[in-house]
Amino acid sequence: MQCPYCGSEQLVTSNSRATEKGLVTWRRKKCLHCGQVFTTKEKIDLSNLLVVKKSRKKVRYQRCKLYSGIYNAAREGKHADRGAMAELTEQITDQVEAAILRQGQKVISSQKIGELVMDILSRQYPELFLTYFAYFQGDRGKRFVRQLLKGI
Ligand SMILES: [Zn+2]
Repeated sequence: MQCPYCGSEQLVTSNSRATEKGLVTWRRKKCLHCGQVFTTKEKIDLSNLLVVKKSRKKVRYQRCKLYSGIYNAAREGKHADRGAMAELTEQITDQVEAAILRQGQKVISSQKIGELVMDILSRQYPELFLTYFAYFQGDRGKRFVRQLLKGI
């Protein structure tokens, strides 16, 4: 690894923090050459995972697709602050990836990924769960959620 500022390889790790049951690790690094401090994120690589879509077509897993699905759904909700929204989406995406990994499969259906997202959202982010659900179920889902919120 090289310092992103000066290219030096003389780096020291000053702090590290594991999250998501050790599947993601943040490291604070300091460059001994230029003194800059930066953070790296070390995570398990899911790029070999295959996703089976509804059409039965197999595609390579892409984190950005999962991320944008969650982000778009969340944006429909009350979370107006984009910065906070992006951070939260990042966090949830990490959790979903950890759950995918725990399945221990090399192939997973897009439906199963959707279920894992719903599972995590419903347990930890109930408000987001409702917007996510409505977003993916279309108008019927939106009506359903509206009814549900009236009942609360
Ligand atoms: Zn440097």
